[in-house]
Amino acid sequence: MGRPVTHNNKIKMVEAPQGIAGEGFFTTKLSEVVGLARSNSMWPLPFATSCCGIEFMATMAAHYDLARFGSERLGFSPRQCDLLMVMGTISKKMAPVLKQVYLQMAEPRWVLSVGACASSGGIFDTYSVLQGIDQVIPVDVYVPGCPPRPEAILDGFMRIQDLVKTESVRRRTGPEYQELLESYGIQ
Ligand code: SF4
Repeated sequence: MGRPVTHNNKIKMVEAPQGIAGEGFFTTKLSEVVGLARSNSMWPLPFATSCCGIEFMATMAAHYDLARFGSERLGFSPRQCDLLMVMGTISKKMAPVLKQVYLQMAEPRWVLSVGACASSGGIFDTYSVLQGIDQVIPVDVYVPGCPPRPEAILDGFMRIQDLVKTESVRRRTGPEYQELLESYGIQ
């Protein structure tokens, strides 16, 4: 029998936010702490309509394991989630449903567009397919590919984490964000 395997040496701690440290104290900005907490506890809502959703299943499974990023808890109730992951072909009939799900999510919320279909309609340049979900909702990060491999989905997820980590706590109430929402007809 071999020695029991311990994984303790593989545990990687997140880096502390920028701040000033001294003996017995550490100060930083509220934005940095909130960003750190949010970015390592994203709750995704998978909106999977076709083949890209299968890649997402692999991303969730043991080998790629999205849980390593603090996101093992998928939610199918929009009110509990803060990351909308759109994976697959979105028909024009489906677009209002997607928008409704987005509207039901509480702020702050982010959107990851996974794959060519969600990002641009992909190969389906037809009358019935939405040519990109950014026609109905704002998108934060696009993942290219048809389908993207799980590594690409993870990379897109980490780009979302970068955005979340550095977002000001005041952004959502600022005029630029309000303008963005208004451009989508969202008050
Ligand atoms: S991008 Fe490709 S793999 Fe993804 S849903 Fe569209 S056709 Fe399927």
